[in-house]
Amino acid sequence: MRLALLGPPGSGKGTQAQLLQEHCGLVHISTGDILREAVRQRTPLGEVARPYMEQGRYVPDDVVNGIIADRFRREDRPQHFVLDGYPRTRPQAEALDSVLTEVGLPLDRVILLEVPDEEIVQRLSGRRSCPRCGAIYHIPRHPPQRDELCDRCGTALVQRADDREDAIRERLRVYHATLPGVLEHYRQQGKLLVLNGLGEPQAIFARLRQLVANGQPLND
Ligand code: AMP
Repeated sequence: MRLALLGPPGSGKGTQAQLLQEHCGLVHISTGDILREAVRQRTPLGEVARPYMEQGRYVPDDVVNGIIADRFRREDRPQHFVLDGYPRTRPQAEALDSVLTEVGLPLDRVILLEVPDEEIVQRLSGRRSCPRCGAIYHIPRHPPQRDELCDRCGTALVQRADDREDAIRERLRVYHATLPGVLEHYRQQGKLLVLNGLGEPQAIFARLRQLVANGQPLND
């Protein structure tokens, strides 16, 4: 199975992609994670991406298209995967289709996780993560046991620069400006499915599996 997850920042794409990796064996490919790692390691890619990411803007299409094309042109390319956070613009969708066609691995389904903007602001502004082990918390919904320290490894939790409210609003603005082109692209191909992204991650995951299996959303 080859999937792409679309949705606003904080809609739970990463969580669902992780569940798909654990339970369905799909390789999780997140452009956000790849870019954050490049920024952390101060590679040339990271230096290009940093200013865009800190302001909540998109990294230029050529840069992210290059990352994905490299990943799929490698010999060890995954056959079954879930893309998280890519494509986000129509030119990205076109570039993705062309590289996946080239390697004979076209997408099966594209799933839009729908979550209202106000819920996104609530979710993201409270999000904290552990820079050491990657655990994710939410203040006040899923706080760590000791204030702002990771339950697993005791490291001080951090807030992503792009999870501050001004950056979140900017990310949502950019998302709404570019999404229609991507939706149109996949709607024309008959690959687009829409899923309600509100609720507990496990319940959403159950609906996601059902949706992928049937091509029809379950009623809530
Ligand atoms: P994410 O973790 O998916 O929300 O991505 C974090 C940030 O990385 C975004 O706000 C963008 O600055 C950048 N980014 C990730 N994926 C893309 C993409 N497909 N196109 C452009 N920028 C991206």
